[in-house]
Amino acid sequence: MSYLADHDPEIAEIIEQERLRQINGLELIASENVVSKGVLEAVGSIMTNKYAEGYPGKRYYGGCQFHDIVENIARDRLCELFGAEHANVQPHSGSQANQAVYMAYLKHRDVIMSQDLAQGGHLSHGSPVNITGKWYTISHYGVDSKTEMLDYGAIEEQARKEKPKLIVCGASAYPREIDFKAFQEIAESVGALCMADIAHIAGLCATGLHNSPVGIVNFTTTTTHKTLRGPRGGAIMCNEEYAADIDRSIFPGMQGGPLMHIITGKAVCFREAMHPSFTDYCRQIVKNSQTLAEVFLDEGLDLVSGGTDNHLILLDLTSQGITGLEAEQALEKANITVNKNTIPRETRSPFVTSGLRVGTPAVTSRGMKEDEMRTIAGMIADILKDIDNDAVIRQIHAQVEALASSFPLYPEIPPADLS
Ligand code: PLP
Repeated sequence: MSYLADHDPEIAEIIEQERLRQINGLELIASENVVSKGVLEAVGSIMTNKYAEGYPGKRYYGGCQFHDIVENIARDRLCELFGAEHANVQPHSGSQANQAVYMAYLKHRDVIMSQDLAQGGHLSHGSPVNITGKWYTISHYGVDSKTEMLDYGAIEEQARKEKPKLIVCGASAYPREIDFKAFQEIAESVGALCMADIAHIAGLCATGLHNSPVGIVNFTTTTTHKTLRGPRGGAIMCNEEYAADIDRSIFPGMQGGPLMHIITGKAVCFREAMHPSFTDYCRQIVKNSQTLAEVFLDEGLDLVSGGTDNHLILLDLTSQGITGLEAEQALEKANITVNKNTIPRETRSPFVTSGLRVGTPAVTSRGMKEDEMRTIAGMIADILKDIDNDAVIRQIHAQVEALASSFPLYPEIPPADLS
């Protein structure tokens, strides 16, 4: 940042402060990660200078020869990583990837069935405050009130009643494995299409640590910046039969010029994700999350669904007598970043909530393992059980800084190993 420090010190200083926040803190937001230096260099490169509307070989601007090459590499690598027939790497975000699928195959007011936001779903799955909820007719499914897990029998029954055109599966706050094949079968049985949004678990699906929907469901959408550990953005995968509709829906349907520096960063990320060390990383994400869950349970805390199969845990704070908001704020004072989250049978508003979502992708990228997870879970439990005790928070703050600053911010990716 030496150039920026001379030319715009105000902004350089903010970036430096944020760098220190990231290095000295514990990032446990389930949807965040820290990218490699390779991804950072690609997204900070001169690839940002170019307009490249269209697709490789068919652009609306001259001078795209290198952008064609990089976008083809990104598409090919994503197809190889997931075994997909077709990939579109242009969506600016996960939300836009989802909207593009809806726009390609649904008409205004058509029925979509999807997981309720309050029970783990995502805004772009038809929340009334989102364009997807305003434009389509939404029938939400939730989790079973006892197990707090998806009940495929109940979802099938609902699909028979509601006759959706599209069933969306995938979630933002669901700690259990999702049976994508079951969703596709339910969709087929009622003549609907099926879309899996694997934004959160993409890294786990790519490496076999969660079943993959690619080639099973009709469309798979994802973000590239969560467990997949790439730059912020989205992508869509599907079979060839849907390729032309999906591509048209992204451009010119929804977007103009693609973010070519981000697509370049996606290409770097997809190559990293094909390396065996990325599978080890994803395995550690799940081990770390299950270790946090074990300690939380030992500490007498309640977990939605009683545990986790993936990268996240959802704490139900009801019996602690505190809200998600209070918990988030107290932990933030100790440099532990998490987010408040609604839980099944939520009684509070989404700004307050009764739950806390805790995820391991970022701390695992920094090299932390089970021992560190036991320490972290103990610190979180100590704060949650004594939330107004500033002395405890101050002491844990010092412990957090000492722990975090002894791990590098960037994931270790040995370049020579990336053959
Ligand atoms: N889908 C799911 C399941 C998500 O969790 C998210 C983001 O958290 C998105 C889509 C949206 O991604 P973006 O923020 O890139 O629009």
